[in-house]
Amino acid sequence: MIDFHCHIDLYPNPKEIVEGIAQRGMYVLAVTTTPRTWQRTRQIVSNADRIKVALGLHPELVAERHSEVDLLCSLLPEARYVGEIGLDGSPQHRPSLGLQKQVLNKILSACNTLGGRILSMHSRCAVTEVLDSLETHSATNVPVLHWFSGTTREAASAAELGCWFSVGPAMARSNKGRKLIESIDQARIVTETDGPFVRNGDSPLMPWHALNAEMVLSEVWGLSAEETSRLLQNNFRRLIASLPTALVTQ
Ligand code: MN
Repeated sequence: MIDFHCHIDLYPNPKEIVEGIAQRGMYVLAVTTTPRTWQRTRQIVSNADRIKVALGLHPELVAERHSEVDLLCSLLPEARYVGEIGLDGSPQHRPSLGLQKQVLNKILSACNTLGGRILSMHSRCAVTEVLDSLETHSATNVPVLHWFSGTTREAASAAELGCWFSVGPAMARSNKGRKLIESIDQARIVTETDGPFVRNGDSPLMPWHALNAEMVLSEVWGLSAEETSRLLQNNFRRLIASLPTALVTQ
């Protein structure tokens, strides 16, 4: 099982989450919202080799913390995974969209210079802008659009640019989300939870609730649970294998 986008450092008990992940033998990409928390989160997961920590600067925090982009870029040589990064054009964050673009472009060009990273990307209400930035600044990276909520046409453009998609239980709850999933090539999908931001009733989703996303995908794809799980494992292996081999460390 794979959770390719969750925020381990934001659970009240990150150590227990790390243990729960290890017990289940699952693979997890722990994204971070600021470069400072990347350093801390790496310490929390230090012995867990199936958990990777992505270096991020969340677009919703850019208005306040844009100056941390320099710290992010200075840490980038050590980081194989980058995220959460991207753009948020929803009404609350629209005022900082110009600044968000500057920050994103700076991060993407720095990634490009280094020779490619896997990027976990936020694109709420700004898919076209995210794809424009990727097209201009990011030929050698592998973007994974997390919780994609654009149109099927935008999903197709994203796939043409080489994007992958991480799909969570929340995306699968709505009809629009299911239609999107149907429109995306099965070979470009991995699962995520976006926990603890995404909740199920009163409780936050745990990384192992990625299984709920697997169940929805098996329904949409008309495959058995085993077939779905095998397909997703294969996707994950291909995604990881697309990284330059020189980047063997976390
Ligand atoms: Mn997130």
